[in-house]
Amino acid sequence: MLPETATPDTAPLPAPAPAARVDVSSLSLEALSRFVTEELGERSFRAGQVFRWIHQRGATSFEEMTDLSKALRAKLEARAEIVPLVKDLEQRSVDGTIKYRWKTRDGRYIESVYMPSADRKTLCVSTQVGCAMACGFCMTGTLGLKRNLTPGEIVAQVHAVNRAVRQLENLETYRPLSNLVFMGMGEPLHNFENLKTALSILQAEDGPNFSHRHITVSTVGLVPMIERFGRETDVKLAISLNASTDEQRSKTMPVNRKWNIEALLEACRKFPLRQGRRITFEYVLLQGFNDADEDAHRLVKLLKGIPAKVNLIPYNENPGLGFRTTMDERAEHFRDILCEGHVAAFIRQNRGRDIAGACGQLANRGGENPAETSQSPELP
Ligand code: SAH
Repeated sequence: MLPETATPDTAPLPAPAPAARVDVSSLSLEALSRFVTEELGERSFRAGQVFRWIHQRGATSFEEMTDLSKALRAKLEARAEIVPLVKDLEQRSVDGTIKYRWKTRDGRYIESVYMPSADRKTLCVSTQVGCAMACGFCMTGTLGLKRNLTPGEIVAQVHAVNRAVRQLENLETYRPLSNLVFMGMGEPLHNFENLKTALSILQAEDGPNFSHRHITVSTVGLVPMIERFGRETDVKLAISLNASTDEQRSKTMPVNRKWNIEALLEACRKFPLRQGRRITFEYVLLQGFNDADEDAHRLVKLLKGIPAKVNLIPYNENPGLGFRTTMDERAEHFRDILCEGHVAAFIRQNRGRDIAGACGQLANRGGENPAETSQSPELP
């Protein structure tokens, strides 16, 4: 201890502020190997151990990594972290769908939707807090974009739901989820770098090991990013088309004013499709707006030459947004026109509507509303 009389120039310098810890749950295996060897001075196989603990076994702390020495765990604790995603709310639909709301470390809220069926267990994953795309029919769009999710926050949704389903259904398998769809909050291609890292983690053999055939990324239609997506990833592509004319599409999807239907479909024609694969086109049916016979006929023409599959989504009504759901018979007739035009078309079964967990309904509602992202905006 220094005597009280120590003059400022003899007093020890304050310890330097600790460098920010690296969120290792956000690193690809390659990046983690670099961190472990270059920053921690450890052998590279340690990276594999840490990666498997986090992304296979779902560890959320270094303490759990019992096959690492105490010294290494202490080093990790000092230099690295695993940023948590905390479960905030869980809502169950009558149809078996479960919507999870998570709280991020900086107090933001996001949602994921678990959809079990006879032959698969699918998780709908979020990529951003809110969304910047402002589609007129979508509730998430009313929130605006708060921030991108990190790769760690994207994969943490998958780990947490795997854990929950394992407990819920009393399963031994470490990875009960079979399919992932990036159709939750946010525009995945607007957070492309983090999406790409998250995919590399989710597809890693040392991680959850999802096959590219079981992952679908849906985009509003960010044309330049579709090309990169095709070059740099190998998972499936879905496009939210939602209209048969530019006039319609520009009214509900501001993105269309920048990249119109022609530009979008041009990107789809050039998209490097794997053997036997098709692009999924999502088409939200809005009563009296885009659900007429002429719309279906125009769609047939638009999709000519593109290996396509159309998912017709009955509109999930949202308070204040003003659109109405197309009647069942109209939706079926619309589908039949597409099929007669040799376009594979399906009416997507709506799930989780009763818990505001269906397409276009994710806006952090339900339970005790977290103030920040749940407030309905002023509506015209
Ligand atoms: N931003 C991406 C990922 C979200 S996917 C995208 O736009 O593709 C969500 C899907 O739900 C999109 O196809 C969107 O068109 C659709 N959707 C949005 N609001 C909806 C609503 N209220 N009812 C039904 N589908 C909706």
